Amino acid sequence: MVQGTANFNTEQNKEWLQEYVDDWVSFYRKHTSEGEVASYIPLLKEANPEHLGIAILGKNGMEIRSGDVDIPFTIQSVSKVISFIVACMDRGVSYVLDRVDVEPTGEAFNSIMHLEMKKLDKPLNPFINAGAITVTSMLKGKTPDEKFKTIIDILEKMLGYRPSINTEVYESERDSSMRNRAIGYYLLETGSLESDMNMTLETYFKQCSIEITVDDLARIGLILANDGMDLDSYEEIIPRQIARITKALMLTCGMYDASGKFATYVGIPAKSGVSGGIIALSPARVREENLPFIDGCGIGVYGPALDKQGNSVAGIRLLRHIASQWDLSIF
Ligand code: GLU
Repeated sequence: MVQGTANFNTEQNKEWLQEYVDDWVSFYRKHTSEGEVASYIPLLKEANPEHLGIAILGKNGMEIRSGDVDIPFTIQSVSKVISFIVACMDRGVSYVLDRVDVEPTGEAFNSIMHLEMKKLDKPLNPFINAGAITVTSMLKGKTPDEKFKTIIDILEKMLGYRPSINTEVYESERDSSMRNRAIGYYLLETGSLESDMNMTLETYFKQCSIEITVDDLARIGLILANDGMDLDSYEEIIPRQIARITKALMLTCGMYDASGKFATYVGIPAKSGVSGGIIALSPARVREENLPFIDGCGIGVYGPALDKQGNSVAGIRLLRHIASQWDLSIF
């Protein structure tokens, strides 16, 4: 743990924390060589595997940014968090959870094994592809653009700008989407989709191709840490109940088939994506000690070299280190 008696949550001590994080980023950058960038979407192969960046945004506006923070990347599976929130807000939590379960799978994100082998009546959770595609089919709208707009609208509210799609990644994903189409057909057969399959998949590919930065992820994380409330305007962007369910799902299902390990060793809600992004957050902690970001924070990480489960190999190590140094775990 960072030693000393200074109040870490003041601007004066920001420099201290910045130095620590800079050291940790350069140390963990070495681990990027242990992973590989995703290649199943051809355009993702172009990412630089050595990149590693982090942004940590606190409630008092304190922000620590370190490493490759200015590289935009596509949101990929982190978009599943947003589409789940939007579907719950539009349709109601019980409507959505009647159609998608809240259980971890222990399987790869794009597996359909459980659905078929266990003859499940609904996908196991909204953060695997089968669940996320089902959720996307529930978004309001009669065209992919109308459905997509519901996601971009809430992102604009949270970020203060309207993010755009990386068209090349979108086309690359759409043109190499055999597995997701297989999932789509399976969900069509089981009657799980609320909208036309092709329209749903097109929306899903678009939502995965939204371009963001680590600062954006930190900001969304902070809003979730604050139970859905925007800290500048005090506007409730996400209803508290939905924010809480989303965080529970991030903790239990957010890190692919390494979710149990992440919850055990890092202990904070998080969701990763195959482009190497991770959104994470630490809620306000009730502790006697003076700890950095004690009032809660949002965290965005980018590190495109992935481990076997599809999580940023250096990003996970960096988060684990920061969580243990600053006692961020919710447990
Ligand atoms: N676009 C990706 C897919 O569905 C999202 C996967 C991910 O980030 O986990 O294949």
